[in-house]
Amino acid sequence: MKSTPHSTPADSPVKAAPVTGPTGPFTDGLRAVIFDMDGVIIDSEPLHEQAFRDVFDEMGYGQTHGVHFPDYYGRSDEALWEDFVRRHRPPQPFTALMAMKRRRLIDLIRRDQPIFEGLPDLVARLAARFPLAVASGSPHPVIDEVLAMEGLHRFFSAVVSVTDVGRPKPAPDVFLRAAELLGMAPGECCVIEDSAVGVTSARSAGMRAIAITNSLPADQLAHATRVVDTYEQIEALLL
Ligand SMILES: [Mg+2]
Repeated sequence: MKSTPHSTPADSPVKAAPVTGPTGPFTDGLRAVIFDMDGVIIDSEPLHEQAFRDVFDEMGYGQTHGVHFPDYYGRSDEALWEDFVRRHRPPQPFTALMAMKRRRLIDLIRRDQPIFEGLPDLVARLAARFPLAVASGSPHPVIDEVLAMEGLHRFFSAVVSVTDVGRPKPAPDVFLRAAELLGMAPGECCVIEDSAVGVTSARSAGMRAIAITNSLPADQLAHATRVVDTYEQIEALLL
C-alpha cells in the first residue's frame, strides 16, 4: 500500500508511525469539517446511471442510447448529455434533458435512501464538536433531497453547491466558499472526500483532506492528508 503524505519519515521505525499531520496531531487547529456529498454521504453513482437509463427509456432510446456509463464517472451531467445530443439530435431542449434526469434522480434518492451505513452516526458525533458543511458538485435541489434523509440537515450549518461558485472541483472554489460561510480560515477546515479531483480541490484550498475509499482505491487518493476505508477510522482521526 502506498504511504500518504506526512507519514513517518523513512528513517523512523514503521511501528512508531503516529497519527500526525503537517502541524502535529491531526486535529491541531482544526475547527470545522466539510463533507463532499456524492460518494461520501450517499452511494449515488448507481442512481445517476439508473436515472439516465430511465430517461432514455422514456425518450424512446432504451436500447439505442449508446452511452457507456463508466466513461462518465466523476463527470458532469452536461458532459453526458452533450455527447448524447451530438449522437442522437433529440427534439427536447438541453435544459429539459438536464431537468428530466435531475427529477428522476431525486425520485430514486427518495425511493432508495442510499445513505452510507455509518455516515449518520459519524455526522451526529462530529456535529457535537465541530460546525459542519456540505460542499457538493450537485445542484441544490438534489443536495436538499439528500440532507432530508435521516434529518441530516440539522447537523450542517453551511451548504454549498457548485452552482453557487465559479468553478467546479478540482478548483478550490466550493470548499473556500464553505469555509467562508462557516467563518473559518481554510487551514482550520478538514474535508472528507471520495474522489481524486475532490482531494485536489481540498488541498489546493489549503485544507487537510481525509479520503475514504468508497469509490477509488487508496493509491489514487494518495495526495490526501490521510486515506481511510471506514467511517469509524474518520471518527478516530477527528474525535
Ligand atoms: Mg464525491
